[in-house]
This record gives sequence, structure tokens and C-alpha cells, in this order.
Amino acid sequence: MVRKRSTEFTNAPIKVVVNTHVHGDHTGANGFFAGQGAVIFAQENLRKEMAPGAGVPVVTYNYDAAAPGRAAVTLNMNGETVDFIPMMPSHTAGDTIVRFRKANVIYIEDFYRNFGYPFADQGNGGSLQGMLDAVDLIETLADAKTTLVPGHGTLVHKQDLLPYRAMVVDILARVKTLRGQGTSLKDVLAADLTASYDKTTLGDTQQSKDRFITEAYDEVAGLPPVVDGKRSMPVHP
Ligand SMILES: [Zn+2]
Repeated sequence: MVRKRSTEFTNAPIKVVVNTHVHGDHTGANGFFAGQGAVIFAQENLRKEMAPGAGVPVVTYNYDAAAPGRAAVTLNMNGETVDFIPMMPSHTAGDTIVRFRKANVIYIEDFYRNFGYPFADQGNGGSLQGMLDAVDLIETLADAKTTLVPGHGTLVHKQDLLPYRAMVVDILARVKTLRGQGTSLKDVLAADLTASYDKTTLGDTQQSKDRFITEAYDEVAGLPPVVDGKRSMPVHP
């Protein structure tokens, strides 16, 4: 689909691909693009998570906690300056955002979404706290007019991220209280904590809600460390 869409504005071969995190809907065409001669960029953690073979990223870089928001790669092409900016472990432990300086656009991948509830893939190194940190970083990188492009949902501006951030903070706090009282995951899920957000959350399926609440339930107990891009998360029956 990306190839098909790209031919709407160019027939030139795709030379550069950046994987903004490891999920199949963001890496699945790597083999195809590598076969066409593209060079694939990604965080080192992401490369470690992929099976060896065609389409594994060849140029890698790391998130530097001492310099959040610093571009790891800057490309000057077609009159545009494009930055690959590695993110803290947030949606996964291998996230990258892509800034188009001239166009004033930032592709913000999946730590924010406005279709379905927040998804921190903790097993792949993500965390809800990291997603809050990622939103905070965007608030400093973007100006009021910057177009933000999420991986799932519609185009937004930085102020649109704030209600989402507030929801994550609210749910974490309420789940923390319940878990602190010894409430089981089953009972926390049954408490329907997201009810007041359903009206404003497109794609609010039961699965999306339960996943979000389960993430919060695991996270308030403390997450295992990230090792080679992964965490060994508890399994819930
Ligand atoms: Zn994803």
C-alpha cells in the first residue's frame, strides 16, 4: 500500500525506509523495500527484536536519555530536511518519530492514537509512563501549527495530545488505588474505568479497553526492565 500511495507523487525508487517501531504494520514490507534497494533505518532495539533475514534494518542508532529529542539521523533530500528522532521506550522500546522541518510535520507513530485506547506494548519494552514522556517531548518539539501524524487515527496538533495524556494519568491513578486495595485484574476490568472516555474515543472496542486497563494494572506494580528490547511481562489467565 505504501508503494502504491508513493507512486501518487513519485515513480522514483524508494531509497530510504525508517521503521518507527517493530509492529508488523510498520515493518512488514521491509523485505519488499530492501529487495528494491532501500536502506532501512531503525533503533538498535528494534533490530534486535527482528528475526534475521531480508529486511532487517541496516543502519541503527539508540535513544540517548541525556538528549531527548535529538535527531539520530538527518537527511537532506528533495528540498526537505528530515530528522529521525529516537524516542524513549514508549509504545515499544524501539520507537522513532520523523520530523519534516520545512513542512512542519512530525510523524508520531503509535505512542499517541485517536483510534482505540492507548497501547503501550510492554512486552516489546513500552510503558504508559514512557508514552506520557513521549507526549511531553512532542509538546517541546512541536509548535502550535505543527501537523502531527499518528500511526492510527487522524491528523492532530500538539494541544490535541493533552486530553489523551490526562486520560492516561487518570487511569493509572485509579488503577493504582484499586490494585493497592488488593483488587484483582478481573474486578478492575469489570469496574469499567474508561466509561467516561468512551464517547470521545473512536474505536473503543472492549478488547482495546481491556488491553489498556491491563497495561495500567501491570505498570502500577512496577515493570520488569527492558532487555534487548523486551520485558518479560506477567501472563494473565
Ligand atoms: Zn504499533
